[in-house]
Amino acid sequence: MRITQTQIMVLSDPQPDPEDAGVSDLAVLTITTDEGITGLSEIFSVPPGVAKAVLDGPDSFFGRLLVGQDPVPPERLWKRLYESMTHGARRGWALICLGAVDVALWDIYGKLLQRPVYELLGGRAFAEAQIITGARDEVIPYCTIISHEWDHKSVLTQQLARVTALRDLGYRAFKIEPMNCAVETIVELARLARQEIGPERLLAVDVGYLWNDVGTALSVADRLAELDIFFLETPFPTDALPAYASLSAKTRVRIAAGEHTVTRWEFLDLMDRGGVNVVQPYMTTVGGLTEAKRLLDLARPRGALVCPGNWSTGILSAATVHFAAISPCTPCFEFVAAEVYGSPLRKALRELGEPVVDGAIALPTRPGIGLELPADLINHYRVG
Ligand SMILES: [Mg+2]
Repeated sequence: MRITQTQIMVLSDPQPDPEDAGVSDLAVLTITTDEGITGLSEIFSVPPGVAKAVLDGPDSFFGRLLVGQDPVPPERLWKRLYESMTHGARRGWALICLGAVDVALWDIYGKLLQRPVYELLGGRAFAEAQIITGARDEVIPYCTIISHEWDHKSVLTQQLARVTALRDLGYRAFKIEPMNCAVETIVELARLARQEIGPERLLAVDVGYLWNDVGTALSVADRLAELDIFFLETPFPTDALPAYASLSAKTRVRIAAGEHTVTRWEFLDLMDRGGVNVVQPYMTTVGGLTEAKRLLDLARPRGALVCPGNWSTGILSAATVHFAAISPCTPCFEFVAAEVYGSPLRKALRELGEPVVDGAIALPTRPGIGLELPADLINHYRVG
């Protein structure tokens, strides 16, 4: 089997609204082979023009290294692409594009063997030790909750309304997002959300890189600990690793970070220098499923949890489910519950993925990552 084409298309909601989880200019990669098998991935947070320069066609930065190659096994081409970046682009957007290539290659590999990708990544046996929120034959999405508006009253009413709606649909895990909010708003929202979902369901809090001093973060974390908060996400700017280390040494609440972190090496810094004990790789951004699996081998002996970030569409979710299925330290992964957001593209992509039943996703059975884009969806949402 040989790769014959690498192609980028761009999907968008007709009127994307970021406050309503609208999807704007999402680059989507397809890798085609001479046996008619096609691999799929999205490329979260890379501008489409960059994704095209890196991957669209045989003359693109990576396209020239992929076309004509055997796509199997994915690790071989991961190494080929990564080493090609040594002299100029080892991180950033190029690395995220490499991650998308890797997901698409695993998709091809799974379709070739007619098996779901998680079986090829190691299978479920690897994960048997870690069951916090679910059962052995399922993985657990946590719903990230945002507001339309961000003043005190709107944050409380809009986010609680979404928490309640999703609780009623059976979801078991939630993350509220009091971004740029005062301390009292953060604690009040957490208190009310805990009241809504009861003691059993998982609740996390993301404050979006809010503080610069450890004292404030520590006093809020202590108050959140009383509400049994599963983790507190990104209290400090990304590079403030000493602040992360200081906080995590003093608080009972797990500290989470890493939604934009690339490669296992940056995660090693987060864990060892930053004391972060919940790391949040995106399956594309980190460098693909191949790199995410390597990260597991570093996180596990450190006692860290790997709870993937996934604030994107059902295409990324499809890949994330396979990682969650093999991980021994992934009690939950991020999920955009399209039911409570307005984005029609997000809803359409969600419907293509594995269903959520009683707050859980069963182990996937379809070959590859298990998601195909129908032509009518592409025709409707394609903008480039
Ligand atoms: Mg976040």
